[in-house]
Amino acid sequence: MKIGIDLGGSHIGIGLVENENLLDTVDKFFSSEDRKDIENAILRNIDELINELLNKNNIRLENIEKIGVASPGTVTNGKITSWNLGIQNFDLQSKLKEKYNLDVKIRNDGKCAALVEKIYGSMKDYDDCVFINIGTGIGGAAFLGGKLLEPKKYSGFEFGHMTLVKDGIECTCGKKGCFERYCSIKALKNRITNTLHIDGSDISGQYLREQIMVQYHDEVQDDINEFIDYLKIGVCNLIDIFEPEIVCFGGSFSYYEGHPVLNKLIEEINKPNSTFNRGEHKITTAYFKNDAGIIGATL
Ligand SMILES: [Zn+2]
Repeated sequence: MKIGIDLGGSHIGIGLVENENLLDTVDKFFSSEDRKDIENAILRNIDELINELLNKNNIRLENIEKIGVASPGTVTNGKITSWNLGIQNFDLQSKLKEKYNLDVKIRNDGKCAALVEKIYGSMKDYDDCVFINIGTGIGGAAFLGGKLLEPKKYSGFEFGHMTLVKDGIECTCGKKGCFERYCSIKALKNRITNTLHIDGSDISGQYLREQIMVQYHDEVQDDINEFIDYLKIGVCNLIDIFEPEIVCFGGSFSYYEGHPVLNKLIEEINKPNSTFNRGEHKITTAYFKNDAGIIGATL
């Protein structure tokens, strides 16, 4: 049995994983107090959540074979640099190894989610795949010939930080006009709540998708169309670069399966002049939805 940790921009999710099965999860959102000293808050929250998970399931730490962490941002030699979390060179791997005396592996969250979808999920029958994780930010991974592409120097595949708009909105990474500033679920929520003049802090992704977008359909249509327009450009660029057999959306965007927003996006991508090689593109969502990070962290 393994422990998978999904470190997100706004919360930590921890799960007990056996092969590709998620047996149980616990999670916690960061408080504003946590953000003042985020490194210690991450360690403290992980410790509390692991204790809670083990107690709840009557399992001892001795029965855990390893801990895997899916982290946003760049992960180099177990150290995390994440603009979303506001940390630089945080050696979480050594700290967890020291504390639990277990094998600990940390990998970029987009890659963790992509791996589980490639081995067990929506991309398992394909060799050439692009996985785009859309949530608080945008990350991802690509497989060619069934092999995960991994650069030597950094994590790479920073899909979210491709420049989409010259001199556009400033990003947490310091660049301007990054893809994720226009096409993350956070960006979509900000745009919609600004238009409706409502406070977005307590609005869940599900409420946004199933209530607000339906109830205020006409008022927010321009925001949704703009989101789709930008997302189409980013996805089509990736299709032209990798020429995948399948594109899979992970993160909270995976819950848009069957939603008019995703249906419209697919229709736009498949228009003749959207991609270089034209034709139909197979586009799907993550089978493991938001759990892909926790499960993938243990692979
Ligand atoms: Zn950026």
